[in-house]
Amino acid sequence: MNYYGEYVTRLIEQFGKLPGIGGRSAQRLAFYVLNMPKENAEALARSIVEAREHVRYCSSCCNLTDTDPCPVCSSSKRNKNQIMVVESPRDMAAYEKTKDFKGVYHVLHGLISPMDGVTPSDIRIKELLARLNDNTEEVILATASTIEGDTTAMYIARLIALNHGKIKLSRIAKGVPVGGELEYVDQMTLATALKGRFEMNTGKDWEDDDEDN
Ligand code: ZN
Repeated sequence: MNYYGEYVTRLIEQFGKLPGIGGRSAQRLAFYVLNMPKENAEALARSIVEAREHVRYCSSCCNLTDTDPCPVCSSSKRNKNQIMVVESPRDMAAYEKTKDFKGVYHVLHGLISPMDGVTPSDIRIKELLARLNDNTEEVILATASTIEGDTTAMYIARLIALNHGKIKLSRIAKGVPVGGELEYVDQMTLATALKGRFEMNTGKDWEDDDEDN
């Protein structure tokens, strides 16, 4: 990889560290950037540095934000006692677009996935439990209806049921297609999935529970 000289090689290496970018794509991106007008390349570099510098995790919901707490958590119009648990900031944005949800969120930044080595301590579950108190009315588990999404929802529901028996636990309806990721689902489907959410029974096996409904 040294045919290109040090600077180009380094740029290719950096692109290659991004998820889903293999060696060939990394080269393509590097050459693309090198062919950009200088000011566009500078704007790209600057936006990366500035975003990294200023964006942080909301101390309440763990969403990415410029201000802490984030605009949703600091809004007086939101019901702080109804918490919707989502996988990523993208999922939160998808639900916000429906304008149907007046509670607040909790962003996990991942799903439990033993196959990929992601354990409960790798995602923001601790932070969720720390937010719950006697005033919390409902926790809506809005992770996708995939194996990882269901596993994560069940794991969290059991933990909450154990420590906060009074909190209502609900799961979004299966309006979200199996294997589907929330950000690709249209707003109408998300709104329907939210309205049709059902109370989780943490004492039973998830599959059994599913059959009964
Ligand atoms: Zn927040």
